[in-house]
Amino acid sequence: MIRVTVWNEFLHERTEEKIKAVYPDGIHTAIAEGLAAHGDVCVRTATQEDPECGLTEAVLAETDVLIWWGHCRHHEVPDEIAERVWRRVLDGMGFIVLHSAHLCKPFVRLMGTVCRSKWRENDEKERLWVIEPAHPIAKGLPEYLELPAEETYGERFEIPTPDELVLVSWFSGGEVFRSGCCWRRGLGKVFYFRPGHEAYPIYYREDIRRVLYNAVVWAQPSGGPHPTLGHFPTPLEKVAMADHSDEFHP
Ligand code: ZN
Repeated sequence: MIRVTVWNEFLHERTEEKIKAVYPDGIHTAIAEGLAAHGDVCVRTATQEDPECGLTEAVLAETDVLIWWGHCRHHEVPDEIAERVWRRVLDGMGFIVLHSAHLCKPFVRLMGTVCRSKWRENDEKERLWVIEPAHPIAKGLPEYLELPAEETYGERFEIPTPDELVLVSWFSGGEVFRSGCCWRRGLGKVFYFRPGHEAYPIYYREDIRRVLYNAVVWAQPSGGPHPTLGHFPTPLEKVAMADHSDEFHP
């Protein structure tokens, strides 16, 4: 089983009637429902309203893949929690960052850039082209996905060049955007997926749910070895040992 935690700042759905009508139980619940339909996923949710943002050491230790949706409350996530997430990713936890979560603290720290982009709310059509059909995240997808109305994001998106770029968006207003980006950080894998503005029912769509499920499968820990880092005094092979005991090795 892949253990997934879906995290949401959970603000708009509580404070704006228009958004509450789209996601009455919160964006996190809609995403979790889509994943729970798969027999190999065990899903839980957490929100910024929970103690320690719902991301205690224990929760993160039991999380193979963390999905993060946030927009207006990034700065309210304590640095200590952001660092905890960052460390878990480097230690192998998958991290899927959705839409406006590109500015959340753990993602910005993992990327090392400002991660900003252009944006406009104008109900424009978004067409997401699958440009890497052989990638695991593209499994079962058509050649492109079409969202009739979405918030528009535009390049330049201030991210490091992705290790793999799976999806590219075109908007009817003319912008383009790298909307499905993969990176490796430490032992962990990171996927950024652009769609999911809170005013549109994007996370109920089967094709979007397919992308998220594929991303979970891709981002789960590989099961590979934990490398040895730092001072390693005993050679694997039998060799003569030099005496460097008087030298300083940081
Ligand atoms: Zn948005």
